Amino acid sequence: MSFRLDGKNVLVTGGSRGIGRAVVLALAQEGCNVVTCYRADKEAAERLERDLSGTKGRHSVVRADVSRPEDVTGLLDECRATLGALDVVVHNAGAISHVPFAELELDEWRRVLDTNLTGMYLVVRGALPLMSAGGSVIAIGSKAAMVGVPLRTHYTASKAGELGLARSLSKELGPRGIRINVVAPGIINTDAAAGLSPEHAQRYRTMTALGRLGEPEEVADVVLFLSSDRSRYMTGETVHVDGGI
Ligand code: NDP
Repeated sequence: MSFRLDGKNVLVTGGSRGIGRAVVLALAQEGCNVVTCYRADKEAAERLERDLSGTKGRHSVVRADVSRPEDVTGLLDECRATLGALDVVVHNAGAISHVPFAELELDEWRRVLDTNLTGMYLVVRGALPLMSAGGSVIAIGSKAAMVGVPLRTHYTASKAGELGLARSLSKELGPRGIRINVVAPGIINTDAAAGLSPEHAQRYRTMTALGRLGEPEEVADVVLFLSSDRSRYMTGETVHVDGGI
């Protein structure tokens, strides 16, 4: 099925590794022009730039921490300069850590909330003046927001916040013809999963109906659908991509 995304202008946050990287490459392969950002890992960013150079659109990979308002302003200036307008915005950049609630320091709470939730607020609010009717905003949330996970109160609170932001914003943006949806992945084979113990990885696999972890490309496929007019009657929705947890 063609998603008819050729020539669309897209911003993806956190595109240098994991799910974000798969999303950027999938969109570029569909013919989109993509601006993306990373926080610290320059090597991964350069690898992405090399991979993007084989695709046809105009692309830009910039360093910008989505939790810092001045960085987000710079990122959106780059979108304006490189692309002019935006058709699709994907807020993917995310932070996580595993800390018992009683030991969760305020700085760590703020780091995770600032990246996941305030980052979404900053990026989407900054991007909206560049968007018009037909636009689509997608936030990468998490299945964890729905079920709860020990040691991740800050992470799940931020991801549940993303859902609330998206649902209310869908009501504000609907009359302008702009949609916003959340993709909630289960456990996906990224760097974090590579660090799991074999027992832990097996426990996660048996939690899913399909008996395996997901691949970043399987999340990217759903992002393609939500980016495109194929999903034109969907807004304020959360799509679970979790192999049936
Ligand atoms: P990774 O840690 O593999 O990659 C994160 C990407 O985001 C990197 O490119 C990283 O850049 C960038 N990034 C991190 N923090 C910031 C920041 N403050 N500003 C800008 N860029 C940043 O993450 P995943 O691919 O695993 O996760 C992507 C999203 O999917 C996250 O929102 C996560 O919560 C969500 N998710 C992931 C699941 C999984 O199983 N992997 C499950 C459910 C949800 P750099 O390397 O330079 O820091």
